[in-house]
Order: sequence, then structure tokens, then C-alpha cells
Amino acid sequence: MKIGIYCKQENSDIVELLKSELKKYDFVLDDKNPDIVFSIGGDGTFLRAVHSYINQLDKISFIGINSGSLGFFYDFSKEEIPEIVKKIKDHKFESKQVPLLKGEVFFKDSKETIYALNEIRIENPFHTIISKVLIDEEELEQYRGNGLMVASSLGSSAYNKSLGGALIDSDLNALELTEIATIQNNVYRSLGSSLVIKGDKVITFSGNLAHSVVGYDHLNLKKDDDLKIVKISYADKKVKIIFSENNSYIQKIRKSFVL
Ligand code: NAP
Ligand code: MN
Repeated sequence: MKIGIYCKQENSDIVELLKSELKKYDFVLDDKNPDIVFSIGGDGTFLRAVHSYINQLDKISFIGINSGSLGFFYDFSKEEIPEIVKKIKDHKFESKQVPLLKGEVFFKDSKETIYALNEIRIENPFHTIISKVLIDEEELEQYRGNGLMVASSLGSSAYNKSLGGALIDSDLNALELTEIATIQNNVYRSLGSSLVIKGDKVITFSGNLAHSVVGYDHLNLKKDDDLKIVKISYADKKVKIIFSENNSYIQKIRKSFVL
């Protein structure tokens, strides 16, 4: 089995420990074509690890070792490295298939497809976005404000939460639509709260989106070509993540946001 290591800090003691444990069982280090990728850092590091292997996701399982406190993509700490490496050697691990969000982004003269783990959003801090919001083929509203976001269940604890969106249990297959600084007055009105819907829907933003940026996880798409339509749904593409058997969403929320 070939192992890749994705980390924030190349020479950390966690990386050293991991390498020495891997050596014991003659694992081959191969960052180009790995079967398993260890992501060492925080949630932001995990996003970057996944995106750097976006075209090989069907072949790779990711495992997160947190270098600080616990993260939403991370179930393991430095102390557990020897045990995890042994389990991998004995093939005693299971990975969970986590769906990515897919964004079909239509510009005036071109189209791009993007994938995200946390969320896909349109943002414009300079001019009001005026966008129709459709759920499948049905119109929900005409939105006016700084931006609109669609978060995945696992992404609901990131930017979505800062915007007042609800946390969604990572086992629920749902999409969350959340507004950014909406204009609400006697003339313009939109929902004004987050909306959580079944994960098989497509959410479409269309309208006056020129000069808006499409943000997705830590990445963004900005072209001179005018942005017209963004269609967001879950993708067929999935990320395989090795979680602990004791994985508890409530404990993650408690440790991250309550204590
Ligand atoms: P980043 O520094 O990589 O991430 C920003 C913060 O979001 C970090 O504290 C990170 O945790 C945390 N985070 C990322 N995914 C999370 C998740 N699923 N659940 C809970 N916390 C999560 O910043 P970046 O380069 O802009 O990365 C993009 C991500 O940051 C986006 O996907 C977006 O969700 C988030 N973001 C948040 C805000 C906000 O809350 N106001 C604004 C912009 C972007 P770690 O410290 O463990 O890495
Ligand atoms: Mn964190």
C-alpha cells in the first residue's frame, strides 16, 4: 500500500512519528499515486489535501491526524498514530464515502465545473447581487445582498455557521442555503434564514451576477467573462474518509464550539 502525507509543517514531530511507524511495516511513501493520504493539520489542511487529489479521489482514502485541537474532518491525534498504522497494515479500517458538492458555473461564453467539500458560494462585497434562487425548477425568491451559499452537511460548521446557519449532522444528506448580508426592507424581501433541504435537489442562482466571485472551499473562480448562472447539487464524486469507530458529531460540536 502506498502512502501520501499532506501537512502544513513538513518537519513536525507528528510527521516524524508517522514516518517512523510507516517504516516499521515497509509502507512505501508515494505522494503522486497514494492509496491512503494522511492529512496532518486542521480542517483547512484537510480541504487542501482533498483538492490536491481531486482527480484521483476514487482510488484514495483520507485520514486526518489533528495537529492542534480536534477538527470536523479529524478523528485521530498524534498518540493514536501507532495504532492506526497497524490497523491499516492489517486492513482493519473502513472509510466513509462523503459526497462532494458540484457547481456548474456558466459564464457568458464558457462553463466550468467545480467541486467542494464545505460550500460553494457567490459573493460580491462591492455591488448588490440580484439573483433568482431556484430549488430544482421552482422559484424560491429574488435575492438581493452580498452573497449566497450552499453548504454541505460536513461544511455546515464552517463559514455557514459564522453566517448564522444551522449545524447539520454529518450523517444527514442535506443541502443548506444560507444568505450573506441580505437586503430586507419594505421593497425587497427574501427568506432571511437558512434553508435546509434534501440532498437530491439542485439549487440554481441566476441573474445579475457579473463581477461576483464564485468561492468554493479555500478556492475561487473569477473570470472577466460575465457570470450568469451557478447550479449547485451533490456530485457523484465522493471523498473516502477514515473516521474513528467512536466518531461522535455531538462531541465534535461540543469540543469545537461549546467548551
Ligand atoms: P482556513 O483558514 O483554511 O479556514 C478557516 C476556518 O474554518 C479555520 O478555522 C478552519 O479550521 C475552519 N473550517 C474549515 N472547514 C471547516 C468545517 N468543515 N467545520 C468547521 N470548521 C471548518 O480558511 P480558507 O483558506 O478561507 O479556507 C476556506 C474555508 O474557510 C471555507 O470552506 C470556509 O468554510 C471557511 N471560511 C470561513 C469564514 C468565516 O467563518 N467567516 C470565512 C471564509 C472562509 P482549522 O483551523 O481547523 O483549519
Ligand atoms: Mn479547527
